[in-house]
Amino acid sequence: MRKPIVAGNWKMNRTSDEAETLARGVVDAVLGADGVDVVVCPPHTALERVSGAVKGSSVGLGAQNMHWEAEGAYTGEVSGAMLLTCGCEYVILGHSERRQYFGETDQTVNKRLKTALDVGLKPIVCVGETLEERKSEVTDQVVRKQVTGGLEGILANEAQTLVLAYEPVWAIGTGLTATPDQADAVHGMIRQVLVDLYDETVAQSVRIQYGGSMKPDNAADLLGQPNIDGGLIGGAALDADSFAAIVKAAI
Ligand code: PEP
Repeated sequence: MRKPIVAGNWKMNRTSDEAETLARGVVDAVLGADGVDVVVCPPHTALERVSGAVKGSSVGLGAQNMHWEAEGAYTGEVSGAMLLTCGCEYVILGHSERRQYFGETDQTVNKRLKTALDVGLKPIVCVGETLEERKSEVTDQVVRKQVTGGLEGILANEAQTLVLAYEPVWAIGTGLTATPDQADAVHGMIRQVLVDLYDETVAQSVRIQYGGSMKPDNAADLLGQPNIDGGLIGGAALDADSFAAIVKAAI
């Protein structure tokens, strides 16, 4: 059985003070929600403060991105070691906003992924199709290519530890959600890609989150699907009670 994992992607929201308050709210709101891995991913500037706020609780800390190099002349970037020293356990890689606005490709996701695994961070690798791609009925090809390219050179024992997030771009921050059937079909397809790349053991071990306007009122239906192992939550993660309601729906 795969343990569900629900992560909040706070994106470029919340100052350090606000982030600490939100993190404390999440810790309180998810008390007793055992059986789910809960992660919050604040902006880099708030990582240390949030690390302090979640310390000693069941809530884990993640970052929203990292560079593949250990150090150097990469203005505006942060390294995996820097994230570790801020208390991070997880890192989101290849979010569609990074792909759309910052030129992220499967190749750069792959480089970041290799470094994240090397330094001991737990990656959450995001994939998903645009609205045009869904309308053109190429969702499976697009997502297959993202998974295959993103995981190139990753060994089976490493792949087994990964979290993938299927996030249809058209559903992120739009209020549109994939239906549970639509989402589960893509999750099942991703699992088949993992069988093709590795084997059944890896495919059955990898946790695949759904992301895209998941809210307290649609979470249970999505999380009830056999291939959906949790959620990557944007908007609803900025409210501790809404986020906790989604966490509880994953139990
Ligand atoms: C996200 O950004 O990963 C996301 C799923 O956002 P939202 O929940 O707001 O659609």
